[in-house]
Amino acid sequence: MRSFQVCRCGEPMQFAERIDPKPVGHEVLLKVLAAGVCHSDLHIWEGFYDLGGGKILRLQDRGVKLPLTMGHENVGEVAAVGPRARGVKVGDKRLVYPWIGCGTCMVCKRGDEQLCTSPRFLGVYRDGGYATHLLVPHPPYLLNYGSRMKPEQAAPLACSGVTAYGALKKLGSLVKSEPVVVIGAGGLGLICIAIIKAMKGKGAIAVDIDPVKREAAKRAGAFATVDPNAPDAVAQLQAAAKGPVWAAIDFVGNSQTEQLAVDSLIKGGKLIVVGLFGGDITLSLPLIPIRAMTIQGSYTGSLKELNELIKLVRNRPLPLVPTKTTALDCAQHVIADIKAGKVIGRTVLTPAV
Ligand SMILES: [Zn+2]
Ligand SMILES: [Zn+2]
Repeated sequence: MRSFQVCRCGEPMQFAERIDPKPVGHEVLLKVLAAGVCHSDLHIWEGFYDLGGGKILRLQDRGVKLPLTMGHENVGEVAAVGPRARGVKVGDKRLVYPWIGCGTCMVCKRGDEQLCTSPRFLGVYRDGGYATHLLVPHPPYLLNYGSRMKPEQAAPLACSGVTAYGALKKLGSLVKSEPVVVIGAGGLGLICIAIIKAMKGKGAIAVDIDPVKREAAKRAGAFATVDPNAPDAVAQLQAAAKGPVWAAIDFVGNSQTEQLAVDSLIKGGKLIVVGLFGGDITLSLPLIPIRAMTIQGSYTGSLKELNELIKLVRNRPLPLVPTKTTALDCAQHVIADIKAGKVIGRTVLTPAV
């Protein structure tokens, strides 16, 4: 097998060749048909997250070890199965759930592997899909995405798809009964708007400073859009919602967006924070109980949530985000393009096609 590895942070990835691994126990070996290049791969390659205010979060301090084959948005064709692996056979095409935990702690047992403190996330802590082959530890992490989606269309569901869906699930029944304010109409926001539609939710109000993105949000199904820089943005949101706001998801996560969301919420309202842009807000503590306010963070999504999402979109795929496919050898160029802000939509590597 060939893989493209980060050997030193911020330096060009290197090719590595080795004999195809032989799956043991419950393991399954896939030929990688699609490996999405995610924005977070840029940070993994650089080796740190910028937390703002001069603070950085080093990934090696968080347990990321080099050399690492990145790639956490993968679709593959089963090439070999371990002697104890059940439920898949050679030739099956599957989407891989990458947010794998230790499997033994209480968090994992509750089904929230994405929150495990001993993570084995594929493409982050374990080798991922920037390779011709990918070893997956257990068949339940392989999801049948049906025949209506191409591999490059299904792959991002493992990251942006399940992240948006996981945030929506935290709003509970509000998705059906109230409009959801979706802050940030980038990739995640647009997928979220499309999922709200697929869930037959009440609808989405999109918030973005960029008029082009607001238009894209409308095309994705948002019934109203608001410019957060407008002096009366709160009033505009409440007018669009025909009353105070019950539910908001912040895919940006900066001081301004967070403040806008908090100011718009009604008593009992919920704000889910996903974006990692950075900053802070001042919150009057008595307002949390008086307004019975929920502010909750959300990080990717659970295996159960990805299964639910696949069930929702398997026969009615979400509208296709502009997607470009390219060879494994081009991975470094794609990372450079992401860094330069030149990627529109998504780029997906096709290592074994
Ligand atoms: Zn991702
Ligand atoms: Zn665990």
